[in-house]
Amino acid sequence: MDAMRALRLNLDSAALAANWRWLEQQGGRAACGAAVKADGYGLGARGVVERLAEAGCRDFFVATWDEAVRLGPLPEGASLAVLHGVREPDLPIAASLGARPVLNSVEQVLLWKSAAAGEPCDVMIDTGMNRLGITPEESRTGLLDGLEIDTLMSHLACADEPGHALNEQQLFTFRGLRGAIPARRYSLANSAGICLGARYSFNLTRPGISLYGGVQRAEAEGQIAQVVRPEVEVLQVRTLPEGATVGYGATFTAQQPMRIAILNIGYADGYLRAFGGKGAALAGDLACPVVGRVSMDLIAVDVSATDVRAGDWLGIDYDLARMSLATGLTQYELLTLLGDRYERRWA
Ligand SMILES: *Cc1c(COP(=O)(O)O)cnc(C)c1O
Repeated sequence: MDAMRALRLNLDSAALAANWRWLEQQGGRAACGAAVKADGYGLGARGVVERLAEAGCRDFFVATWDEAVRLGPLPEGASLAVLHGVREPDLPIAASLGARPVLNSVEQVLLWKSAAAGEPCDVMIDTGMNRLGITPEESRTGLLDGLEIDTLMSHLACADEPGHALNEQQLFTFRGLRGAIPARRYSLANSAGICLGARYSFNLTRPGISLYGGVQRAEAEGQIAQVVRPEVEVLQVRTLPEGATVGYGATFTAQQPMRIAILNIGYADGYLRAFGGKGAALAGDLACPVVGRVSMDLIAVDVSATDVRAGDWLGIDYDLARMSLATGLTQYELLTLLGDRYERRWA
């Protein structure tokens, strides 16, 4: 028997699918995949994959083999690539799952050649980010000869920064690689890269954050819908006299008599202390500001203007763009911080 939780994530299937379709259209003729690493950016990778497969998505990306295993069986016709590539101990799992490693270094290429030469793989070339990937020079030494490359990819470092010179440089370098390295498909763009125009899309795009409601560039404003809405139960309502203080450190003082609601969410749920004085609960459309510090499992919000009672459920304002500005957390952090104490409810 499961205990009834007092904290949930309402997840919008229609918004997720609509975001994928918009990203797919922006990519022109390219297929549109989906990055579902970090448990689907906190939403739950399994639920995301099932819904996107239904929308038509066939190409999924996780970071590690552990994530690939946890994902469970893939939907019919779907394929999975593992972005961090393959280490010696991963080889048995790689063979049994049939997911492709994204080979990221000379060592990984040699390992794959010796262990699984005829099996399809992806290859990451570093075109300027200096994170993962073999260098363009390494790729020209014959190193990749004999590999069965499904997708040759690179990753943009500054796609979310308007007019950054590195975008065109990386595009130019990647075009050169496409001419030199045979592969079934070529892939460069993440969510923000898709917004740079179809020139960046090649055969396959790899959006993550924008599937889940993140807006990284002006082109996506008004096109990408919110997917994630936390909702939380009111544990208590308290009436405060003027001068009473709230929470650890007594950082908030009531300037007049007021009512506060104590809610079952805190920094252990990813609702970090950065939301103190910045975040709000939602009673219908009415914003109820967070007062005092965020605790590990609790917050207090001002419900003076409402008739909220213990046992009611309130929304939490989780507009990613606005909350990112307010808290200084990135939209990526806001999503991937969401912990496992939420009941995830797809509608
Ligand atoms: C995470 C990741 C993506 C998705 O990036 P978003 O900015 O979330 O769209 C695409 N490609 C690679 C290699 C990644 O690591």
